[in-house]
Amino acid sequence: MGKSSSLSEYWRLLDLAEDYLRDGFRRPHPPLLAPRREALPPSPAAREPAGVEAGSASVQPGSAGLAAIAGEVSACTRCALHRGRRRAVPGEGVPNPLVLVVGEGPGAEEDATGRPFVGKAGQYLDKWLKAIDLDRSSNCFIANVVKCRPPGNRDPAPEESAACLPYLRAQIAALRPRAILAAGRVAAQILTGLSVGVGELRRRGHSYESIPLEVTYHPSAVLRDPSLRALVWEDLKRLKSTLNDA
Ligand code: URA
Ligand code: SF4
Repeated sequence: MGKSSSLSEYWRLLDLAEDYLRDGFRRPHPPLLAPRREALPPSPAAREPAGVEAGSASVQPGSAGLAAIAGEVSACTRCALHRGRRRAVPGEGVPNPLVLVVGEGPGAEEDATGRPFVGKAGQYLDKWLKAIDLDRSSNCFIANVVKCRPPGNRDPAPEESAACLPYLRAQIAALRPRAILAAGRVAAQILTGLSVGVGELRRRGHSYESIPLEVTYHPSAVLRDPSLRALVWEDLKRLKSTLNDA
């Protein structure tokens, strides 16, 4: 991207942020999530201003925005993961959630069904949520950092997470959850912008675009190592008290 076009891109993003911060989109904007590679920020940093990615004309707060994002995700070819997917997995839940849970990426069952966290780890996650009166059909939204399955359930590569991040950012802007729960290292690192482990991150208070952010272990990790259960319970209780304070 040339100097002048990156400058105009910068002003356009500021414009979008201003619109967003004023509680909605006052002006029509060109689609930012159209599959034009050059329309994406060159290296989507974790801590850009609020709402910049939510500026697509089709991406608005609420369920219409979420449906538009899901539509774009389902047709997306921005990174190599689209080649191996059966179904993209945009996420699911209520449009105005107390909590947005962010996992890593779809596994086999999610890829087959197009729904997030429906395999073993997902059933376990549902139990965690239920323990603090949360569930995806009434007060949560569940999404992932990458929306297409990494082959063999490997971690998403940094360029894949970066390519997909605008969708998560647009979802956050449309959802405006009261709190975010990052489950596992991939989500925790991308949302905090810090490259230390979950053991370290979960002990600190974080926020993402002014939304309180809790970090905990990934349910698959806890299924493998039950000694983490007590720590997850601490994190869930902290999340619950964050919601009570909000
Ligand atoms: N693991 C994840 O991180 N996300 C899913 O949707 C399922 C399993
Ligand atoms: Fe697009 Fe994300 Fe799927 Fe990559 S993982 S193809 S960026 S939806």
